[in-house]
Amino acid sequence: QKQIKLINRPKGTPTKEDFKMVTAPIGEASEGEVLVRTVYISVDPYLRGRMNDTKSYIAPFELNEMISSGVIAQVVFSKSTLFKKGDVVLGALPWQEYSIANENTVRKIDHSRAPASAYLSVLGMTGLTAYFGLLDIGKPQQGETVVVSGAAGAVGSIVGQIAKIKGTRVVGIVGSDEKVKFLIDELGFDAAINYKTQNVAEALREACPNGIDVYYENVGGEIADAIFPLLNNFARIPVCGAISSYNNERPDLGPRVQGYLIKTSSLMQGFTIGNYSPRFGEGVSDLAGWLKEGKLKYEETVTEGFDRTIDAFLDLFIGKNLGKAIVKVSEI
Ligand code: NDP
Repeated sequence: QKQIKLINRPKGTPTKEDFKMVTAPIGEASEGEVLVRTVYISVDPYLRGRMNDTKSYIAPFELNEMISSGVIAQVVFSKSTLFKKGDVVLGALPWQEYSIANENTVRKIDHSRAPASAYLSVLGMTGLTAYFGLLDIGKPQQGETVVVSGAAGAVGSIVGQIAKIKGTRVVGIVGSDEKVKFLIDELGFDAAINYKTQNVAEALREACPNGIDVYYENVGGEIADAIFPLLNNFARIPVCGAISSYNNERPDLGPRVQGYLIKTSSLMQGFTIGNYSPRFGEGVSDLAGWLKEGKLKYEETVTEGFDRTIDAFLDLFIGKNLGKAIVKVSEI
């Protein structure tokens, strides 16, 4: 079977040369383990951070070892009483076509309730990140203005729609006109800004005539700089991600925003989704409910074939994905 290993710590933007595809035996399941076939692999911006040898909230990948991420897989052979052949499971698994997993490291998903890939997107890590970051830290109130960056991606597209459900004016910031159109026509955003072709500060002033009450931060950098002068009193800024700096060789400068936070009494709070694990059930239940009621849509960019996993990962940094980026490795 094929596996993907990290062979260099990327300098700046990762390239294909930082990874290597190798072949290895599949192995055999022992008592309490299952042999699973990889169906979908989640490719995520945070994996870039794990490729550096720096201390973070999650350990770095080892060199010459496999990358791992959220994976949907199907049980092909079980030596566990908890799983049977055919069960579809979710776990943090290595990038390979088959894995041996301990029964306590994967959980069964109900793919009759939603397509299996949704457990990596709207009902999975990114949907929950949108849900808790926005509702627990952002606390949007009816009639307020919510701005979200990375707005057409996995997290941002769900943030904007939940903010609409909560009765706010929603403005998205994205990197293409196609994405602007998608946010307004498909997801019901009130306005959207293309940061690659527009002056973000000017466009934001126009799109947010009543100022900004919540800024859901996914990208950092110059886009974020344009937000602060427009903050209203007691604005909230959930800091979810800063993808614009993930490939920087030196830490990003700033943010030089203290003055803005002081004069508006605003709150800026970072978080990782792991903080909310005791409450995941609550999040999934609301997200699934909104999906069923047709209040929430989700988009996935599915790249076909294990061999294209690295391409799908690198594409995140050039904004090729609409919604959640996923690799399809095999059929269920
Ligand atoms: P996305 O699906 O949003 O994919 C990444 C998107 O980022 C691209 O499509 C691209 O869209 C945009 N992008 C890439 N480079 C830049 C840049 N230099 N400046 C501005 N935008 C850029 O990814 P996710 O939804 O999975 O993740 C979004 C953010 O949330 C990331 O920062 C991620 O690290 C973070 N995150 C944090 C979690 C937490 O627990 N705190 C959990 C999950 C995600 P475009 O065309 O618009 O440029």
